[in-house]
Amino acid sequence: MSELKINNLHVNIDGKPILQGVNLTVPQGEVHAIMGPNGTGKSTLASTLLGHPSYEIVEGEILFKGKSIMDLGTDERSRMGLFLAFQYPVSIPGVTVANFLRTALNARKKAINPEDKGIPVPEFRKLLKEKMEELKIDSSFAGRYLNEGFSGGEKKRIEVLQMAVLQPEIAILDEIDSGLDIDALRIVSEGVNLLREKQNLGVLVITHYQRLLNYIKPDVVHVMMDGKIVESGGPDLAVHLEEHGYEWVREKLEEEAL
Ligand code: ADP
Ligand code: MG
Repeated sequence: MSELKINNLHVNIDGKPILQGVNLTVPQGEVHAIMGPNGTGKSTLASTLLGHPSYEIVEGEILFKGKSIMDLGTDERSRMGLFLAFQYPVSIPGVTVANFLRTALNARKKAINPEDKGIPVPEFRKLLKEKMEELKIDSSFAGRYLNEGFSGGEKKRIEVLQMAVLQPEIAILDEIDSGLDIDALRIVSEGVNLLREKQNLGVLVITHYQRLLNYIKPDVVHVMMDGKIVESGGPDLAVHLEEHGYEWVREKLEEEAL
């Protein structure tokens, strides 16, 4: 069983400590949400997991499927089955959605088995058609250039399609609700829920707002504050945070520190 495990992770940006001892385990098939006030390090965690070079790991480890991934590049992490949704997906003019996905799938297959010769085009077309129907994505998307002229909601749907085709074991979704209207949010969330059910996808969903968690139901909710996970609980914790804010968490921490 695949899991993402983060042990005592400390990360600096420009010498300034941002993450200060994050501990977190996300097993395949579970949805974990990280919530927290702005500026507490949620996106820093996502970028560090992605392998962004400006984030300096000063202590701790990141394990995926029991192996350290800290020396691996973003591509290698993704070929291993870690999916990282970008807050601002890039567009690649001249590369169609279908070609992009087939290249990515072949790279992933080769990483799993170096002898793999790649998926034949007709078989890939069939797979893509199947996945697009399942996710209710219009078939015309396959022939369009990646993300070029796509609306915010359409880009997110293509990311979900990417997950359906590449079949990652764990997906990290940072603020996927930003800039989405309710319909788009619902469609994307339904896609994520479907993949969890069908592919046993594990999800780390990072959000500032509780509303996303009305759609993507978390098993575990974590609160991040000052670069650490300070509180974990069930789905009720998200509801409680929405009603009462984060101040009580801080007060509780201060009391505990006394
Ligand atoms: P969150 O996602 O929880 O709102 P971030 O991880 O984006 O928080 O930011 C945490 C802290 O790190 C903030 O104080 C932010 O200003 C700082 N920070 C994030 N990225 C950078 C960067 N590239 N350069 C300098 N400081 C950064
Ligand atoms: Mg953020």
